[in-house]
Amino acid sequence: MNVPFLDLKGPYRELQHQLDAVYRRVMESGWYILGREVEAFEAEFANYCGTKHCIGVGNGLDALHLILRAMDIGPGDEVIVPSNTYIATWLAVTYTGATPVPVEPDERTYNLDPVRIEAAVTPRTKVILPVHLYGQPANMDPINAVAERYGLMVVEDAAQAHGARYHGKRAGSLGHAAAFSFYPGKNLGAVGDGGAITTDNVALAERIRRLRNYGSSIKYCHGERGFNSRLDELQAAFLRVKLACLDEWNERRRCVALEYLSRLQNLRLELPMVPDWAEPVWHLFVVRPADRSRFTKILDQQGVGWLIHYPVPPHLQGAYALLGIERGRLPVCEMLAETVLSIPIGPHLKDSEVDYVVNAIWAAAQR
Ligand SMILES: *Cc1c(COP(=O)(O)O)cnc(C)c1O
Repeated sequence: MNVPFLDLKGPYRELQHQLDAVYRRVMESGWYILGREVEAFEAEFANYCGTKHCIGVGNGLDALHLILRAMDIGPGDEVIVPSNTYIATWLAVTYTGATPVPVEPDERTYNLDPVRIEAAVTPRTKVILPVHLYGQPANMDPINAVAERYGLMVVEDAAQAHGARYHGKRAGSLGHAAAFSFYPGKNLGAVGDGGAITTDNVALAERIRRLRNYGSSIKYCHGERGFNSRLDELQAAFLRVKLACLDEWNERRRCVALEYLSRLQNLRLELPMVPDWAEPVWHLFVVRPADRSRFTKILDQQGVGWLIHYPVPPHLQGAYALLGIERGRLPVCEMLAETVLSIPIGPHLKDSEVDYVVNAIWAAAQR
C-alpha cells in the first residue's frame, strides 16, 4: 500500500458532476472577472465566517498585503509576526515597506505566544499578525488584549484555518481583518490560486475592494495606485460548490485526527495539543518524533507520505538575511523546524489508509 501525503483528486471525484456543471455555467456566461459568481461567493463566505464583508482576491499573500496596505502600513512601521510560520506571512509585511518583528510560539501549540508579544512592542508597532497555524486558532483573547492596550490592529492569517473556531467563533472574525488562501491544498481549495479577506469594517472593506482592482471603484477612475488581484469567476464558482462541503470535510479531518490522537499514544512521538478553547480544522497533523531522520526513513520504506512544515524558518532564509537575525536568536521555532513532521490527513483519506499510517508509525516510533 501507498498513502500519499495529500490527495488533491479526491474532491474532484466526489463533486465531479457539480463542478463540471459549474464550469459550463461560467463558460457559457461569457463573464470571467468580477461578476456574479465572485459576488455570491463573497456573500456566502462572509456569512460562513460570521463577518459583514468578504473580498475575493488573487491569493493568500495578496490578501495579507492588501489588508496591510488598506491599514496604511508602510516604511518605518513594524508588524509583529510569528517566528514559526510560512514565509508568506512575513513577505506581506515586507511588500508594504514595513518590518516584520518575529515573536516566538508557545512550545505546546506551536502558535504565537501572547505572553511574549508585549516585549516586542515598540512605538513603531502598528499591527499584530497571528497565524492560525496548521488549522489551530491562535490564542486570540490575550492577543487582542495586548493590541487594545497599545492601540494596534490585529490581522489574522487564516490561510490554514477555514472553519476553525476559537471560543465558538470562526477564524476570520477574530481580529480587525483576516486573510484566507484558496491554494488547492488548503482546507477550502480552488483549482488554481485564490484568496479572500474578511472583516466587519466597512471602510476597510471598501478600500480593499478598490485596491484589488487598480485602485478603482468606478471604471477608469483611479483615486489611488492599486493592484490587480482579483478572484476570478471560475474559481469563485468552484469554491461555492466546495464551501457547501467544508464543514463535512473538516469533520472528516477531525475524525482522522481523533484516530491518530487515540492510537498513537505511548510512542516516541509528541502529538499535537489542543487547548479546550480551540476547535482546529486539522489542515495539517504535525507530530514530533524523537528521531526524525530514522522515522522518515521507515515511513519512506512503508510508502507513507510526509512533509515538513517548515524546514527552515523565515529568519534563516536567504530572503531575510538582510534582517540579520542570527541562528539561535529564535530557539523555539528553530527547534520546531528541526523536529516537526506532518503526516497524511484529509477529508478523502480512507479508514484503511488511516490504519496503514497508524501501523507504519508504530513501526517507526516504538519505544
Ligand atoms: C498558504 C499560506 C499563505 C499564502 O497563501 P497563497 O494563496 O499561497 O498566497 C499565507 N500564510 C499561510 C500561513 C499559508 O499557509
